[in-house]
Amino acid sequence: MRFELTVLGTSSAIPTKTRNLSAQVLNINEKLFLIDCGDGTQLHLKRSSLKVNRINHIFISHLHGDHFFGLIGLLSSMQLLGREKEMKIFGPPGLDKLIFNQLELTKGGLDFQLNFTELNEHKAEELVNESDFVISSFPVKHRVPCWGFLFREKKLPRNIKKHFAKQHEIPIKMFNKIKNEGADFTDKTGVTHKNEDITTKPPEPRSYAYTADTVYNPEMIQYFQGVDLLYHEATFGEDKIKEAKEKFHSTAKQAAGIARDANVGQLLIGHFSARYKDINPLLTEARSIFPNTIAAEDGMTCKVNRKK
Ligand SMILES: [Zn+2]
Repeated sequence: MRFELTVLGTSSAIPTKTRNLSAQVLNINEKLFLIDCGDGTQLHLKRSSLKVNRINHIFISHLHGDHFFGLIGLLSSMQLLGREKEMKIFGPPGLDKLIFNQLELTKGGLDFQLNFTELNEHKAEELVNESDFVISSFPVKHRVPCWGFLFREKKLPRNIKKHFAKQHEIPIKMFNKIKNEGADFTDKTGVTHKNEDITTKPPEPRSYAYTADTVYNPEMIQYFQGVDLLYHEATFGEDKIKEAKEKFHSTAKQAAGIARDANVGQLLIGHFSARYKDINPLLTEARSIFPNTIAAEDGMTCKVNRKK
């Protein structure tokens, strides 16, 4: 099953020649989930190989323009492209009003339904629960209410060894018990076969957490402890640690500290201040704390790999 992230924008506040504003797409088995939608996102989606009509869920972390000013443009283009399917949008209170006001004032009605869900400021909450994955939100600390998102595959059942099932004629009604409940199987001759001998272990479920904009905040670790891939903002380097705190952002080193303490598999840093023409010093700072760190680049796609 595909579980991979495409980063569309990695700059904070304003775009640069090489970095667009925040937006990412997580592909879970060809279902696309758009996370934040800074100005220009639809253009960057177009330049990627991602199919816009496969996006049915949009997650907006907070109401700072660099994270959602691209939304009205994207929705309008979807209308022009003939979209009929409902769009589910998860975001801060007031986002629905902002969008509906823009649509009303521009007489830009949509032929498809927008379904808004307000995020909960006080606790983590499940937003989407499908047969093979779950998506939830969790509060982070920024200048305005802000949320991170956690995407988690569900644990798969064990697989019954095909040749065994055929050879021993396991009745269909026993499948669920063997696969999901760890039941042993007694064949016609009265021989009992242990579950671990007749099944194989499924691959471990994968997980991805996006922390949006946040000040250094170890409290949030509880929400994504042990994820395979963590995206954490690294707006500043250690040279601006004071500014990071004042502006409720983090440094690359702080992001790495969170990754280490949360025992994640890999750290992806992004949301770089436009002042850094070269982000290698930030990457070096982060790697001094958490070696398995990569720096996000616009257009990059990375597989969410299972933690070793
Ligand atoms: Zn912000």
